[in-house]
Amino acid sequence: MTRINDIDELKPQMKKKVEKLLQLAKENDLKVVVFETYRSQERQNWLYEQGRTRPGRIVTWTKNSRHKQREAVDMVFLDKNGNYTWNGDWNKLIELGEQCGLYNLAPKEKAHFQDNGEALYEIPDWGKPVVEKMKEKGISTPPTEKAGNIPIYQLIKIFEKYFS
Ligand SMILES: [Zn+2]
Repeated sequence: MTRINDIDELKPQMKKKVEKLLQLAKENDLKVVVFETYRSQERQNWLYEQGRTRPGRIVTWTKNSRHKQREAVDMVFLDKNGNYTWNGDWNKLIELGEQCGLYNLAPKEKAHFQDNGEALYEIPDWGKPVVEKMKEKGISTPPTEKAGNIPIYQLIKIFEKYFS
């Protein structure tokens, strides 16, 4: 089951973000490379079996990864001999990732960076009345604003719970 690490396999906007991250990492003396980009469903299933029906350490928590949508990468550090190592300044890399609009799945999968995409932050019709209510109550959460790692529609669910 071949691992693909070619950034050309990513969606164009994701590729751009990853290129920016690689550039920033270089400027900050972090020796990192892209370990994996696009993943087929077949490979995702195979990885999911690891640590469950096949021996090994659990490496994924989903069969529906954003790798399949070409919107995720796994990063890895290089040691002084140029070999892969998962020991590195992940906190710094995660911070740089955020500057590029990439969300990290730490602590579960700190090597994993993904593009949540703008679409996730669009408010569905059922959420619009709640946004109105939030405005009435003076809760200043602009509908288009991203709130950390939480898509806006999840935020709406939270507010709906307390203000309905
Ligand atoms: Zn990943």
